[in-house]
Amino acid sequence: MAKRYPFEYDPTRSFIEQVGEWVGDVFYEILPEAGFEVRDEQIYMAYQLERAFADKTTIFAEAGVGTGKTLVYLLYSICYARYTGKPVIIACADESLIEQLVKPEGDIAKLATHLNMVIDARLAKSPDKYLCLKKLDQARNRDDESLPLEELYDTLPDFVHSYKPMQHFHAYGDRKNYSDLNDEQWNQINWDTFQDCLTCDMRQRCGQTLSRDHYRKSGDLIICSHDYYMEHVWTYEARKREGQIPLLPEHSAVVFDEGHLLESAAMKALGYKMKHVVFEELLIRLLKNEIRESLAVLIDEAILQSEIMFDRIRRQSRRIPGSDRMSIELNALLIREVHRMRSIIAQIEEELVFESELYTLDEYQLRIVEERLEMMEIALKLFEDSGALICWASEDSDGMTLSVMPRNVKQVLEEGLFSQKMPIIFSSATLSVDKSFHYLQDSLGVKDYLSFSVDSPYDYENQMKVYLPEQLTGDFSQKMEISMNLIEQSEGRALVLFRTREELQQFKQECGQRPQLRKYTFLYEGDQEISYLISAFQRDEHSVLCAVTLWEGLDIPGPSLSNVIIWSLPYPPLDPVFMAKRAETTAPFEDVDLPYMLLRLKQGMGRLIRTGEDQGTVTVLAEADGQHPVHEYISSVMPKGIKLQKLEVQKH
Ligand code: SF4
Repeated sequence: MAKRYPFEYDPTRSFIEQVGEWVGDVFYEILPEAGFEVRDEQIYMAYQLERAFADKTTIFAEAGVGTGKTLVYLLYSICYARYTGKPVIIACADESLIEQLVKPEGDIAKLATHLNMVIDARLAKSPDKYLCLKKLDQARNRDDESLPLEELYDTLPDFVHSYKPMQHFHAYGDRKNYSDLNDEQWNQINWDTFQDCLTCDMRQRCGQTLSRDHYRKSGDLIICSHDYYMEHVWTYEARKREGQIPLLPEHSAVVFDEGHLLESAAMKALGYKMKHVVFEELLIRLLKNEIRESLAVLIDEAILQSEIMFDRIRRQSRRIPGSDRMSIELNALLIREVHRMRSIIAQIEEELVFESELYTLDEYQLRIVEERLEMMEIALKLFEDSGALICWASEDSDGMTLSVMPRNVKQVLEEGLFSQKMPIIFSSATLSVDKSFHYLQDSLGVKDYLSFSVDSPYDYENQMKVYLPEQLTGDFSQKMEISMNLIEQSEGRALVLFRTREELQQFKQECGQRPQLRKYTFLYEGDQEISYLISAFQRDEHSVLCAVTLWEGLDIPGPSLSNVIIWSLPYPPLDPVFMAKRAETTAPFEDVDLPYMLLRLKQGMGRLIRTGEDQGTVTVLAEADGQHPVHEYISSVMPKGIKLQKLEVQKH
């Protein structure tokens, strides 16, 4: 039988102290014997984390690239999960990064090999990373020629179509297994927020729901994204009321990798999306039962009011250049329609109470409708104080979608996260501003915490060079020429980071017209599943990876990534979330745009040097605009000891 702990546990002594001693052995003896270079910073971090686990408190663990912070928190997390009998959640910044922890050359595999341990680590991916059988059927019914439908259908396990009893079900339908589909194709067949899984007759055989059964049973670690963790926090109570199990099981601790990004994930998760057709369908389901006339009349009124409200939203919406979101101008007319909508929903809720006493509606169905209406009610209530909400509209073939989120997430974090007596680890290379954690503490509403900062041990001065081209005009073709030169010089091996998808698309189109580039494989985010693209980039040393979301977390050691090209400074998008943040301050550029850009730029540069042997260059294609000291900005986020160098612009 496998040992529960990787050391001989003495129940008469403090467990965490014994973990600390074992972690000391791992760093002083076991890993050095296996050829690992272990640093003093790691030992220091281990002692700090020991305090957080012993006191069950929050810790801000700021540690630069190469300090080996992941190994430290993994060791404590695995032992703690086994001791408490509940898994530890590791939440990564982005869904695209969660595979990185479990890749064969990743930190979990390293520990398993060198410490001779079996580590149970399972991924809790968000539902949109799974195939939806209903949507696949819809695509087949409309004979969607943009999709390889029959091939997709053939990938489904037999139990999906057969209703024999006592079958063994297993998870399937993961986006990773359909790596050749681009994002647009995938969005035709994956789960989306408007699918009503609760009433779906395929639910028991759906890969998305089966994946939950699988990860819930993890004995050590569950790895998910910040967004998913926050969705768990936000839906925890409602799911319990609906008679559903929470998204994540009871856990003993949580680690937020790239923890500085938690606030935006929390805002996203607390958002609510509404669509007329979905609302209509929900209510029409009630009409199919034998309900009282007064309720039927209210339902008709609600459907009509929803049409009016969405029509008003359309009129008040304005396109935002470079974004698929539309800003909504809140005026008295719109607020009045929202108010009417809320009042009808409240009346329906009251009617449902009477209806439940008559037992004319199925109890389960009734509870689901009540929960949905209550969520809508909460979302629409935010309109009462327009200063407290952020909203936007988007449109697709099914009509308008209204998205609403609260500005302030502190209260939900306090109730759903920080009030739990458990270790909460925030880990990142960028948590503090000038070594102060006040900004993060304040934005998240953390009251008590421990903290420490450890610099990166790398010799950046001799490992990397940072360039800013001279006389850059911002002209696309000039940037293109420079990038091509740089890619030729490094013979591929490049990561090109873009601020927007439009920039990436323009670059892609242009590359397709340059025959001299055919010798390199260009991998574009959005063309295939992201973890497939990342491993293809790592495998093919001379390839070029072009991405919009990989400014953070991408970890590719070795020569495959020797050249980082930053296509433009990563200022935040012009979308409603940032527009709202800007509107809150008298100095929007200094308070919102600049700090966001600098943090992202620093993270983007951090993709280059991942080991003590890595070498390479970062080139920032940022033109001087006469207003902003671009040179100064870039210099301020470069590792210590490096000077920003000029790059002469020559014709290719
Ligand atoms: S359970 Fe949800 S994701 Fe699965 S097939 Fe049904 S609607 Fe689609």
